Parts: sequence; structure tokens; C-alpha cells
Amino acid sequence: MNFFCRLLGHTWVPKFDSPKTRWNTGESAAELIATPTGKPRLYDECARCRAQQDAPVRSRETKAS
Ligand SMILES: [Zn+2]
Repeated sequence: MNFFCRLLGHTWVPKFDSPKTRWNTGESAAELIATPTGKPRLYDECARCRAQQDAPVRSRETKAS
């Protein structure tokens, strides 16, 4: 674990991962069509140490800036 994470706690950043989304070009080549073939995954990732947690913490809406 990162030193600052141990000191201050993790800094969770919401992440969205959909590894099974296929991108296809539409009728025009400038158009991209997403074809989800699996379930997208929402998770939180620590901005410092890249630790991940599956259950997103949404109880407190703090926007770190
Ligand atoms: Zn961390």
C-alpha cells in the first residue's frame, strides 16, 4: 500500500470498465457504434496506489479538486 494511502486513506476515483464492448464503424466511417456484449463494471480505483474496490462508495458526494 502507498505510504500516503496508509497515512490519509485511499483516494477513490470512480472508474467505468466495459472490456467486452466492441466498437464498430457505422454507415459512415466517422461513426462509432458500441456493441456491449457483457456487463459493464463500475468500480473505484485509488488515484495513488491503483487499489480497486468493487462496491463504489456513493454515500458521500465529495468531488476532489
Ligand atoms: Zn491507495
